Amino acid sequence: MTDPETVWRTAFNHPGQWDTSFPPTTMVDLFEASAAAHPQAPLLDFMGRKYDYAETLDAVDRVACGLKALGYGRGDRIGLFLPNVPHYVAAYYGILKLGAIAVNFSPLYSVEELAAQVEDSGTKLLFTLSATALLPTALEVLEQSALERLVIGSVAGGLPPLKSLLYRWFKSKEVAPRPADPRILSFSKLIANEGGCDSVALDPERDVALIQYTGGTTGTPKGAVLTHQNLSANARQVAQLDPNYGKVKDSILGVLPFFHVFANTCVLNRTVIAGGEIVMLPRFNAQQALAELRRTRPRSLPGVPTMYQALLDAPGMKPSDFSSLHTCISGGAPLSAQLKEEWERVTGARVIEGYGLSESSGVVSTNPYEALNKPGTIGQPLAATRVRLVDKEDPTRPPPPGEPGEIVVSGPQIMRGYWNRPEADAETFVHVEGSGHWLRTGDVGTIDEDGYIRIVDRLKDMIAVGGFKVFPSQIEAVLYRHPAIKEALVIGLPDAYHGELPHAYVVLDEEAPAVTGPELSLWLNAQLGKHERVSQVVVRASLPKTMIGKLSRKDLIAEVQAAG
Ligand code: AMP
Repeated sequence: MTDPETVWRTAFNHPGQWDTSFPPTTMVDLFEASAAAHPQAPLLDFMGRKYDYAETLDAVDRVACGLKALGYGRGDRIGLFLPNVPHYVAAYYGILKLGAIAVNFSPLYSVEELAAQVEDSGTKLLFTLSATALLPTALEVLEQSALERLVIGSVAGGLPPLKSLLYRWFKSKEVAPRPADPRILSFSKLIANEGGCDSVALDPERDVALIQYTGGTTGTPKGAVLTHQNLSANARQVAQLDPNYGKVKDSILGVLPFFHVFANTCVLNRTVIAGGEIVMLPRFNAQQALAELRRTRPRSLPGVPTMYQALLDAPGMKPSDFSSLHTCISGGAPLSAQLKEEWERVTGARVIEGYGLSESSGVVSTNPYEALNKPGTIGQPLAATRVRLVDKEDPTRPPPPGEPGEIVVSGPQIMRGYWNRPEADAETFVHVEGSGHWLRTGDVGTIDEDGYIRIVDRLKDMIAVGGFKVFPSQIEAVLYRHPAIKEALVIGLPDAYHGELPHAYVVLDEEAPAVTGPELSLWLNAQLGKHERVSQVVVRASLPKTMIGKLSRKDLIAEVQAAG
């Protein structure tokens, strides 16, 4: 099939504006080059304790050597089950330096979720943190899965205020690991070596750096496989958006969770290559973020819309708290035109909306830093990235004239595929004769005459609660464990603060003892992660079905919306 721009609606950036050559390289090469250029510059500020580039690189090197001494190497999967703490940074780049594959796990995971993904990825060793609820979860997974080892970091020493914050945020339970257990070792023991072990020659385009779990378009968790080149290209693509890149000292408030690709690219990798500094908070909390803004005066604050709203609403907030900020990138969920306007008016800092997904190493498109922003759009594609619309039913064809289409993407940041899921790969990539492979995003959009993209709908069954992604099928699976529930559907409905919230609708089994919606809601929410919790469980006589008798989320949404 030919590929004329007149047939395919294609988004575009301004050709010639950017460097589009991203020579194959690893993130570790870029880190080492940055550290060689400014070894004494601060890279991390963790509650006032600073770590410079040379010191961080030394820790990275010793993590790699420590893992090697334990027998791990190229291609082994090593997990990160950590909030934003310095150990995350040392462990992440250390794993990459070794040629092993980092696997990111959300610190909010339950034992079941973590165990399932550890098994699926074949993770052999897991980094976690003492004095937090992460540790009992990780210890349980060590017993239940094929996981071989735990490495436990500690931030308690010398940082009492931080210890109490971690206690509060991650519901601490101090568990004494059995000292005699050879499978468990401390982070400090792992890095108690001289460093400098032989480096591994990696092929940036073939060697995998990161496995990032996501529901994709179906909701079943699967690992997006990202190569070194995927990650380093996306970091370079994002870095060059900033016209001041390399000219002014860059500093970022890192409140987005590092385990997510958005933070991985826009907070970590991008700042490392710019020689900038990351002020880290273990997790987002508006008061703590305001305190860090006042203390450290960063230039940027990448976030999700709910974070910007929470900061504007925080008691005691003063517009001067934000006066050091220059440009902030918002992503993960739609940024409303009102919130963009309010943020820019109150803080004086620009907020630009971007878009991306786990399968794209984080970022596909953004509004420009200094040129025209179109509120309500996700901007234009990054350099060397192509975005186009395809027919929602048949992705090998253009959408009907004048209608939106599914967004498909190609570029150096697009994943190689899913971990051990050839059938999901076959559904996710579409090959268009003459123009190569394209990633289907499950998002539906339009493209305007200036090449700006607008998301108008979603094909995938995903609910965006703030920046968190919730998959209806997973909540429905929990509902079906209740003996009184015969049928269940979960849908996302609009919410002023979170964007969307999950709502459950069920039909009860007539034979089962009576139970009410609020009782079911209590029962359900007790089993869900905090961000997954449903607003309500509604008991109904029936649920809408498709022609072939399948329960239909789409019809239920239409019904609920029509009822107001
Ligand atoms: P994840 O893989 O968790 O990063 O989720 C990616 C999904 O988040 C995308 O496919 C979109 O559905 C959604 N998303 C990301 N950024 C935006 C945005 N700016 N506006 C609307 N949806 C977004």
